[in-house]
Amino acid sequence: MSNPATQIELKAPLSGVMVPLEKVPDPVFAQKMVGDGISIDPTSNILLAPLTGKVTQLHSSKHAVTITAPSGVEVLMHIGLDTVMLKGNGFIAKVKEGDIVDVGQPLIEFDMDLVARKAVSLLTQIVITNSDLVAKFIPATGLVQAGQQTALTLQLAAGAGSVTANTGAASEAYSDPIKVPNHTGLHARPSAVLANAAKTFQSDIKLVRAGEEANAKSVVAIMGLEVQHGDEIRVRAAGADAAAAVKAISELIQTGCGEDVGGPAPKAKPAPMNIKTAKPKPKSDDPNILTGVSASPGLAVGNVFHVKQEEITVVEQGEGQQVEKRRLDKALKDAHQQLEALKSEITDASKAEIFAAHQELLEDPDLLAIAIANIGKEKSAAFAWKVAFNTYADKLAGLKNEVLAGRANDIRDVGRRVLRLIAGIEEAAMVVPENAILIAEELTPSDTASMDRTKVLGFCTTGGGATSHVAILARSLNIPAICGIDEDVMQLANGTPVILDGTRGTLRKNPSEAEITDIREKQAKQAAKREAELAAAFQPAVTKDGVHVEVVANIGGLDDAEQGVKLGSEGVGLLRSEFLYLERTDAPTEDEQSQIYIDIAKALGTDKTFVVRTLDVGGDKPLPYLPMPAEENPFLGVRGVRLCLAEPELLHTQVRAVLRSAPFSKLAIMFPMITSLEEVREVKRIVAEEKAALGITQEVQVGIMVEVPATAVLAEQFAREVDFFSIGTNDLTQYTLAMDRGHPKLAKQADAMHPGVLNLINMTVQGAHKHGKWVGVCGGIASDPMAIPLLLGIGVDELSASVPTIPAIKALVRTLDKAECQKLATEVLQLGTAAEVRARLSQLVD
Ligand code: PEP
Ligand code: MG
Repeated sequence: MSNPATQIELKAPLSGVMVPLEKVPDPVFAQKMVGDGISIDPTSNILLAPLTGKVTQLHSSKHAVTITAPSGVEVLMHIGLDTVMLKGNGFIAKVKEGDIVDVGQPLIEFDMDLVARKAVSLLTQIVITNSDLVAKFIPATGLVQAGQQTALTLQLAAGAGSVTANTGAASEAYSDPIKVPNHTGLHARPSAVLANAAKTFQSDIKLVRAGEEANAKSVVAIMGLEVQHGDEIRVRAAGADAAAAVKAISELIQTGCGEDVGGPAPKAKPAPMNIKTAKPKPKSDDPNILTGVSASPGLAVGNVFHVKQEEITVVEQGEGQQVEKRRLDKALKDAHQQLEALKSEITDASKAEIFAAHQELLEDPDLLAIAIANIGKEKSAAFAWKVAFNTYADKLAGLKNEVLAGRANDIRDVGRRVLRLIAGIEEAAMVVPENAILIAEELTPSDTASMDRTKVLGFCTTGGGATSHVAILARSLNIPAICGIDEDVMQLANGTPVILDGTRGTLRKNPSEAEITDIREKQAKQAAKREAELAAAFQPAVTKDGVHVEVVANIGGLDDAEQGVKLGSEGVGLLRSEFLYLERTDAPTEDEQSQIYIDIAKALGTDKTFVVRTLDVGGDKPLPYLPMPAEENPFLGVRGVRLCLAEPELLHTQVRAVLRSAPFSKLAIMFPMITSLEEVREVKRIVAEEKAALGITQEVQVGIMVEVPATAVLAEQFAREVDFFSIGTNDLTQYTLAMDRGHPKLAKQADAMHPGVLNLINMTVQGAHKHGKWVGVCGGIASDPMAIPLLLGIGVDELSASVPTIPAIKALVRTLDKAECQKLATEVLQLGTAAEVRARLSQLVD
């Protein structure tokens, strides 16, 4: 924010000769009725801003303009005398009211000849209209150069200068220009960080760049501003907390909106191809090969199948604003839920964020404003929403920055999702033949996430690029894919045999039999392995030397539990109970919750363990019905058990609901983010109290998640007081390595195979076993085949893995020898880097 100054210098707005105000042949100015100041007899014809401030008044005849400085000083500039008569003739305004201008910025251009001929005088007055703020006026004399020399120095009265433009409830504030430090400008991720921060303020907040502005609470609007590295932008806010908002948002921009902006710019990668840059596409010399860009590696042999986007027709006329508004609200809410479900199907959290970003688009104030405005014009909800998302999608698609342009596809995707819901059209499940290689102009992230992997072997799109969300998802789902492929692909008939090489970005027509056979053999081997694993899914996971390891499931609801049982899971090692609490406006009741726990417990049966983790949310995932201040460091704030202990009623209700399912399975309650024994004692007291109150007689184990390094280090002390540990390696890794688990740039380094993390796992197991307690691992590492021999060697008793991986994990355990694994663990725990650990472990997997 601009610092209030006790002395303000006004640069000459025009070149010319300084004239004392008293000598101006107009009593209004000469007698200082408007205020004190100075006059210039001009020799230049572009009026420049004499100081930084806001254009608070621009006369309709464009001959006078007022700039209000952050100090509150109002500077009126009046070009010529009696020029109001010209009714704007000869004046061109370069700014509009509300603009923030910098010193030297052109304000009004005027036709000197015309004004000289038609007006009384060209003398231009610079007057401080609230002269009471000024103790002393020090005008320059003689000739001055516009924008270069000081025309007038103001010494402010005592107490003035602390007066800012921000007065009263509806105050306004703005920052100095800020150079955007992000190497790739404000693309999707920093825009989202910025918009989220802006949303925590009540004020209306804008980002302003060279006269253009964007709603700082709208991701699409920020992206649409296409702010590049080094661009200067300003933050401007109006409202009760304007000053605080400008301060916070400015600081956020200066520090890169969550991106690392310290180092040198990343080396320029070859520009990923997209619709715009891809033409003309590089042609292969081989007429049988169509080339594009690798979007997701892997080989697939299959047959061409063209996919076309279904047309959604909408009627323009609405059935009344109330009805249409309700329709839109309902569709937005339902779309949110659909996306939530989609997110839970994607095991890779950073990829699930793509759909979290789609959810944010559903709340984007600018998108909604367009839709609501159209409903206000008696349009139907479908029509209004279509206009809104197409407006923004087209705007983004037209941007020069191809990463931002690629996000148009996301807006269309989420836009069409809502549109289908309004129109009551079921999302037509893509009917795809076996062994399909999909061909399309464009696929959406939703199409990609919901592809039937039993039939779709790969896909090619003529549009899109390697940085698109579709490509990112394809990689995460292991679907070989090519983007930006030669448009000749559209000519291939359905059913044409092809080999898709996602790694090289090539699609081969007319493959030879030998090639197909070779690839099919490799794939068949993989498939046979999977089949054998499925066939043996119900056999226990016992090592060759007879040690049983319990392989159980991480679940997020009843469906997962049922699927897990079908795939041979021996129970549930982690129910993430958050799904019961999110996306609602009030807390779930005890009855509601208990019904779901009971359903899951029944799906498992009394011979299977059911570990329910209590609510694990916090500042990063706020609940609308709980007062939760935004956290500066949400992962280090009031989350997990800390939040539950701060809201005891919430915890008591959940514990009671969970306990009521005790008769239907082997129930265990687990608490997340435990850091201290005091927490353990308190949660145990609550469980005991509720158990007694409910008269539950079954054994219910009480355990904790080991996610905080302090807890791993003190495992022995904790083991004396709990029944079991489950190691949450996702969080344990982030807290041990001090790396945000969702940080895009640290994704590779935030590796649970870091020896620091592995040694903490070892300490946890040692501590637990000293007191005869069992230890599970429920973080992502338990689903990674490479890590399994090591975890067994360390002595982990239970592996809680993602549901689809269970048969493979069990099969793998059966091939291992515990004694050998122990030797391996002793060796690996001595290694110094994650790379060394991976290199050693990769020798064991084929
Ligand atoms: C973990 O932290 O490893 C864990 C399993 O919990 P979540 O991923 O739900 O934080
Ligand atoms: Mg965790």
